[in-house]
Amino acid sequence: MTKASGRRRILLSAASFLFGLLTLLTVLGGGVWWLLAHPNTPVPPHWNPLRDLTVTAPVTPVTPYQLNRALADDALCRAALAEAGARFDPLDDLVVDQNCGIEGRGRLSGLVNARVTAVETRCATTLRLVMWEHHVVQPAAQQLLGTSVSRLRQIGSYNCRRMRTAQGQDNGWSSHATADAIDIVGMDLSDGRSLNLLADWDADGPEADFLRQIWRGACDWFRVVLGPDYNRLHADHFHLQGPGWGYCR
Ligand SMILES: [Zn+2]
Repeated sequence: MTKASGRRRILLSAASFLFGLLTLLTVLGGGVWWLLAHPNTPVPPHWNPLRDLTVTAPVTPVTPYQLNRALADDALCRAALAEAGARFDPLDDLVVDQNCGIEGRGRLSGLVNARVTAVETRCATTLRLVMWEHHVVQPAAQQLLGTSVSRLRQIGSYNCRRMRTAQGQDNGWSSHATADAIDIVGMDLSDGRSLNLLADWDADGPEADFLRQIWRGACDWFRVVLGPDYNRLHADHFHLQGPGWGYCR
């Protein structure tokens, strides 16, 4: 056997190995695709990246992917809210200028279980809010306070303004200018209690534990979360913002 033919044989066997591997991957990939796409797939919807988000389904590693798809598509977003029982009545987009306006606008008045002070906001902001309510706020209320939240109190989502900082006005536009944020000042509980961030954040007892737990949990569903510990401008509310660089303080 010459050196050249030996090399050719190695190349040929490498090529056939690669071909075999690609065939195997294609068959496996096709099999996985078929398994996920089949109408009677045994894969539960909340584990299936091809299925749409169900707000009240258990959270899995697939949930963020399903959520991102719904956040980017108003029809999917509204369908997810309707299925969850949220009250979000669609309105025409608010078009103001390049800095201000509300895409995917609606009038929000109810989440999955709690009501909320009625407000005009984006479907995407609402979807993050219901995920937070269902997967963080209500479980924490049951666990730490032995009751449920009947009403979230908010003080605004859309506001065509620039950012405010503790030093004064910043040059950038606020996420409120596009209703990509909502400010929460407190909540009413089903047992009659009422919580205020300003009064209860630094109090002793389960109410403060509850507020801190839902503040931290908001970071799972919003990309920017600012609370009373951030600065004096946020002493009385949580600023919950959809888009952002991942900041939780
Ligand atoms: Zn805010």
